[in-house]
Parts: sequence; C-alpha cells; structure tokens
Amino acid sequence: MNTTCPYCGVGCGVSVRDDGSVAGDVSHPANLGRLCVKGAALGETLNASGRLLWAQVDGARAPLETALESAAARLRAIIDQHGPDAVAIYASGQLLTEDYYVANKLMKGYIGAANIDTNSRLCMASAVVGYKRAFGADAVPCCYEDFAAADLVVLVGSNAAWTHPVAYQRLVQAKQQRPALRVVVIDPRRTASADLADRYLPLRPGSDGALFSGLLHWLAQHDGIDSSMLPHLNGVAETLEAAQPWTLARVAAVCELEEAALADFYRLFTRCERVLTLWCMGVNQSATGSDTNNAILNVHLLSGKLGRAGCGPFSLTGQPNAMGGREVGGLANQLAAHMGFSDAECDRLQRFWRSPTVARRPGLTAVALFEAVARGEVKAVWILGTNPAVSMPEGNRVAQALAACPLVIVSDVMAHTDTTAFADILLPALGWGEKNGTVTNSERRLSRQRAFVPPPGEAKPDWWLLAQVAQRLGFGDAFGWTHPAQIFREHAALSGFENHGQRAFDISGLAQLSDAQWDRLQPVQWPVNARFPDGCARLFGDRHFYHSDGKARLLPCAAPAATPVSAALPLLMNSGRIRDQWHTMTRTGAVARLMQHIDEPFIALHPATAQRWGLASGDLARVQSAHGWMAARVRLDSGMRLNELFAPMHWNRQFALQSSVDALVAARGCPHSGQPAFKQTAVRLAPL
Ligand code: SF4
Repeated sequence: MNTTCPYCGVGCGVSVRDDGSVAGDVSHPANLGRLCVKGAALGETLNASGRLLWAQVDGARAPLETALESAAARLRAIIDQHGPDAVAIYASGQLLTEDYYVANKLMKGYIGAANIDTNSRLCMASAVVGYKRAFGADAVPCCYEDFAAADLVVLVGSNAAWTHPVAYQRLVQAKQQRPALRVVVIDPRRTASADLADRYLPLRPGSDGALFSGLLHWLAQHDGIDSSMLPHLNGVAETLEAAQPWTLARVAAVCELEEAALADFYRLFTRCERVLTLWCMGVNQSATGSDTNNAILNVHLLSGKLGRAGCGPFSLTGQPNAMGGREVGGLANQLAAHMGFSDAECDRLQRFWRSPTVARRPGLTAVALFEAVARGEVKAVWILGTNPAVSMPEGNRVAQALAACPLVIVSDVMAHTDTTAFADILLPALGWGEKNGTVTNSERRLSRQRAFVPPPGEAKPDWWLLAQVAQRLGFGDAFGWTHPAQIFREHAALSGFENHGQRAFDISGLAQLSDAQWDRLQPVQWPVNARFPDGCARLFGDRHFYHSDGKARLLPCAAPAATPVSAALPLLMNSGRIRDQWHTMTRTGAVARLMQHIDEPFIALHPATAQRWGLASGDLARVQSAHGWMAARVRLDSGMRLNELFAPMHWNRQFALQSSVDALVAARGCPHSGQPAFKQTAVRLAPL
C-alpha cells in the first residue's frame, strides 16, 4: 500500500508492507524510492505510546459525543455574546488538505471571521507574500526534476542535507552524474549542505536580500537582462534604480563577504543558462523575509531564468502539507482556492459555499492571534495538530495566554503535549497511517496519504471532528460529508469555480473523481484542469503571470534589518532543525534510533566564541535572551561565524524541562508576512 511521508515538504512516497515496515515508493516522482532516516523509521512510530485515545472535558475522560456537544455549546455561547471575532482556529501543516478545507470553511464561511491561521505562518508565509507580489499568485514554478537539468544550483538559507534530505540526495546524484553542475551554498552557518558546494558564501545573518539586490544590479551592468522578458514585467526601472546603490563593494561590506567570492558567484549566475535557486527558513524567518523572497524572484524574472527545465526560483516548504493549507485558505490573510478578500472574491466564495456569511477582511495571523488571546479579545481557540505552547516565539507567553483563555479546544494524536495541558476539551485525532486524505509537497504535487491501520480508541479524522461541531453549531448540510473524497471534490470544484484562468491554483480536473478514483489518485502537480489534464511540471514557460495585466512584478526590496544584538545580548542565535528529529519530537522522539543521532539539546558555537565565554566542549551553558533562558550542551563547530550560535528547535518540556529555544525568540518578524524572525535572536551565554 502506498502513502506519503508525514514529515517534510519533500513529500516522499512510502510503501507500507503487510508487517508495517516501510520502504521508499519507487513509483513516486518526489523520491523515486528513496527515504531519509526519519521516513525509514516511520514504521517504528506506529503504535506509539502516549496516544490520545479518548475525549476529555475539563480534565476528565468523557464520551466523544459529550465532548462534541460541549465544544459546540461553549463556542456558540462565546459567538453569541462576543461575536465571531472572539473565536479562532490555529491549525497545522501536518493536517491533510481535507481537514484544512473543513476548518477554513467553518471559520470563514460559517462562523464568519477569518481568524484561522496555522503553524505554516512560522514556516513559509514570507514565500507566499513574495510569490503573490511577483507572480500575482502563490505559485512555485519549479519541480524536483529541475535539479538534474540545472547548470547552477544556488542553496540559500537551507540546510537541505538535513532538513530536506531526499531532495538533497537528488542534488548529490545530479552532481555525481554531471560534475559540470555548479553548486553555491549561501548560509551564515557552514552546514552539511556546504559539503557539496563549489563555492560557499558565509554571509552575515539576514543580509541575503542585499546579496540578491546586488546581483540584480550586477545583471543590469553585465548584460544579464533577458530582453524578451521585459514586455512581461512591471516595476523594472524603479527596482533597478533601487538596486543601484548595491555595488559589489557595498554588498561585500554589508554581507561580510570577500568581494572576489561574491563577484565569482554573480558571474556564475549571469553566465549559466539554467539556474535553480532553492531557499528555506534562513530566508523566510527573518525581519525582511518577504523582501528577500522578492529579491530572489527579481533576479530570476529579469534574467529570464524560470519556466524552463533546470531553471527557476524554488522555495522548499518545511511541512508535509504547508502547500495544501495555502490552497484551501488556511492562512488568515487569504480565502480558499488562493482567493483574496476583494468584494468579488468574497461574493464568489459565498456563492459557492451558499454560506450565511463570509469573512470580508483578513483575520489574525499566528503571533497576533495569541496576543489577542492574551488580551482576552479572542476567548475561544481550537488548536489542531500543533504545539504552540512550545513552538511559537515567546512560547511562555503563549502558554500563559492559553492558561487564561476561557475555552481551549485541542484535537491531537498525543495525550500529553505542552499545549494539551491547557485544553478544556481534548478531542482524539487520527495520526499518520490511520487517516485518509491528500497533501501537497514543495513542487505543487498532490499525493495521497492513505490509512492502513485501524483507528485506535475513539480517535477520529480532524475533518470529521470539525464537521460534527459545525453541525452542532447549526450549520447542518454544508458539513454533511461522510467521506474525505467528498471534501476533496468540493475543494477541487471551488478551485475552478468562476476561475477563467485568473487563478493559478486550479485542480478542477479532479472535481469529478469517484471515491474509488480518489483513493487511487496518483501524484500529480497542479494545475490539473482542461488545459493541463495530467498536471503541469513547470509554470510560467508561456510568460503569463497572474496579476490582472498578465505581467510579473519586480519589487524594490528593503535593506537588511539591523542585527538585534546589544551590549547586554551580544551574540546572535540561529535556530533550526537537526537531521533526525521533527518539530517538537512528539513522534520522532519516541524512536530510539532517531535519538541516537543527537540525544540532548545543544548549542553549536565557534571554538573562539566558546573560549571567550568561558565554555568548553561538553559544558552545560545557560542561553539568555530578552524573553527567557534555556540550558544546552556546548558543541564546538568551526563552521560557525564568530559571536553566533545555533540551537535546534525540537526539544520541548516532555524531553528537557528548560530547553525550549522558541521561548527565547521574540514575537516579531517580517511586517509583510507576519513570519517571526526565528533565525536572529540576541542572546548572551554563561556556564551553568
Ligand atoms: Fe519524509 Fe522528508 Fe525524509 Fe522524504 S525527505 S522521507 S518527506 S522526512
């Protein structure tokens, strides 16, 4: 039986054998049979202990029916007394598209507020802003096959070797087969991904926007503009003018790079016909995350390096279904099927849903949502499949807000997380291997997650739990699905409803699938419609974009933000993933062999930095920010820049009482996307 891995956005196909062991699905285009160590250990995560098997109300086990009635009654009371804006949903890139669709429909179309956001806000919101501003659509142009066709692959702010291992292995293989393929890695931290690099640029954290603005200026100065692109672009003159100050010397100074190395990269980018730029959290989780995305998109648009094999800007999504969430409107600042909040779009959505109301303005994004909970403005929050009490910036404040919130509903697979501790109503949800639905990976490829083990206890699909509460709220037939394929068909039909080619996301070609056809659905890249009945590997080859005039836009980008260090907090902390763990370890932390890689929280720092702070390898250190402190073991790493440190994001209070890195991170970030700047936290160190 074939399904899809529930971890990262590579979206690998997984074949499950009768004995529950797993192997890579050789027929899946995303991984062609490969799995990384996390994916290969999936079989060991089935039957995990600590599952949430039964509903709870106010801390006591309750029949599921009672919990659903209670959830609906308490939500209804809050809506009636305080209005729809007093309610919020906080969802997860771990949810299946069908779950996400129902959550979004309930919140925006029936409760009538847009307060539904997701942990994808922490992951890819800056990329969404970048794509929409440049292309007029949240549309990733590339596919994994481009790795093998590129002349140059640029990896920016991504340790793909650890965070997207199977995609990285495709890159390794491409370079082995074609040594002429050049790889440039741009990252403040010399990670495992730099092992493949022909050139490694250890730039100052947060300065990558300047590096790409400098590249834009270089392209204009060195015959790097594709003149055939100019009729398809707006904003060229003002963007080039804004980039003029970014001379080689200035970029080198701001990025703290050698001029010669920078010029070498710029020459390579200009000269190579087929350039693929891959990026991830290092770009997105920044105070200038959205603008840096646009700085990357600018250079690909102006040089015409997109829409062809081996070419284009390609953001790697962190989570298995961050893309699916984006498609159904799982972000507070967009509606379903990639629609915005114009009157025409709101009216269209309301016509399709035949709903009593539809939210007409954006809702609260993740950080603002929990701040509104803390202020008492949001009085009910339903958290699905995520752990914000530990994964949100200033997580301790989020925990305090949840403790004071009048109604916290949590649906989860695990009974005891940092967040379930605050639940008034706990609803048991199905996990991987138990639930049925679809996900979309980084390359726009829809795949099926299939159930192959029976549901444990009273656990139910998230879409079912949401629909049951919706029915009890009085929203009846609109939530009357009995099978996830029905939800998928509705979602697919909405993507084509009154679309007429105005929106890139269109899977209307899948709207007529029977239940059996949906069950057998093979991986396919959207759009899937009359024009692309078998899907579409690359977008924008025809130079048609999704702004109303059909053109793409270049955008002047902000200068890098000042590094937030001070005399009191003089070090810069970067946070991220390690190879063998996922998110807050609720699943991977239960697998002994995954814990063998790295089994405790650590900070990595340059030996000279450690010495300056009186620390040696193996010491326990206290890391203090303006918002909290954590304890971690010191690891020396000469690949770190001086006065900087790296800390993994995974450990939560279940595993290490005082090692939650996100408690240290400020709840601030990119003003355009609302994505927190997890990569740049000012801290100081002391021996513990
Ligand atoms: Fe799963 Fe990502 Fe590993 Fe593939 S690369 S097996 S999707 S964790």
